Amino acid sequence: MRHARTESHINMMQTMDRFGTEEKCRAVLEELRWPDGICCPRCKSTKISRIRDRAQFDCDACRYQFSVTSGTIWHDTHLPLRKWFMAIYLTIESKKGFSANQMKQVLGVSYKTAWFLCHRIRAAMTEQSPAQLNGTVKCDETYIGERMRGRGRGRGASLPSKGIVIGVIQRGGKIRLQVIDKPDRKTLHAFIKKHTAPDTEVIIADEFKGYKGIGDHDTLHETVSHVQKEWARGTVHTNGIENVWSLLERSVTGTYHKLSVKHLDAYLDELEWRFNNRDNSYLFRDTLIKLLNSKNLEYRDLIAS
Ligand SMILES: [Zn+2]
Repeated sequence: MRHARTESHINMMQTMDRFGTEEKCRAVLEELRWPDGICCPRCKSTKISRIRDRAQFDCDACRYQFSVTSGTIWHDTHLPLRKWFMAIYLTIESKKGFSANQMKQVLGVSYKTAWFLCHRIRAAMTEQSPAQLNGTVKCDETYIGERMRGRGRGRGASLPSKGIVIGVIQRGGKIRLQVIDKPDRKTLHAFIKKHTAPDTEVIIADEFKGYKGIGDHDTLHETVSHVQKEWARGTVHTNGIENVWSLLERSVTGTYHKLSVKHLDAYLDELEWRFNNRDNSYLFRDTLIKLLNSKNLEYRDLIAS
């Protein structure tokens, strides 16, 4: 089987066994990067010779020498791949996220290295052009402050200093999250229009005036109080937007003590990726593929304001 080594859910011991050496990690990346056989990144030729104990390749056509990490996020990394793989595993398997401080301790690296590593993994998880949601969706905002305030509160005169997050979730499906400056009608409507299909059947939101007029001829706008009983029933509730806010709250207050607004969107992307892949048995493999295809995040860009 093609992706035999990365199939299905894996636990930490299996991660250490399967990806415990550089050779094993490289073999997996090779499988994922070139499922149809090794191909020269420069001229696309498939006439390739292996050199130096499988770590390097030589293109018979253009003589370019490369490795499986050439031109990828791992091109210039000083960190062993097995540490990257463990960091990826920890990031996707911990429900509320894994902080740089925890990463530092588990991997035995400096705080700076751990912090940068977390950010690079997080950046790769961003969905570049996420599909629009449809069916029945629910929209809500939450406020991130000293303590996160509950849904429906905090819309008053004193806006929190740390950020406002808006989210829309498809019933039993995926979520889209975004940081917004203020929860006014223009912002809320623009967000919903961007992330829901024009023929979405029902948009559920609370009575807040900013949501007024979000429905149209083929989209019903329902307020929370109308549908609360139905929405709260059964399994839907546990994967509802309230659950996402609770995960976010636990991440912010528990894991990411020093969460800054500047990086909040990136944390949301990470939460989105984990939540939207909660039933994906190939999450580890799919995250590796995301990293393989991601652009490299430069440290200087990350710390620039
Ligand atoms: Zn070539």
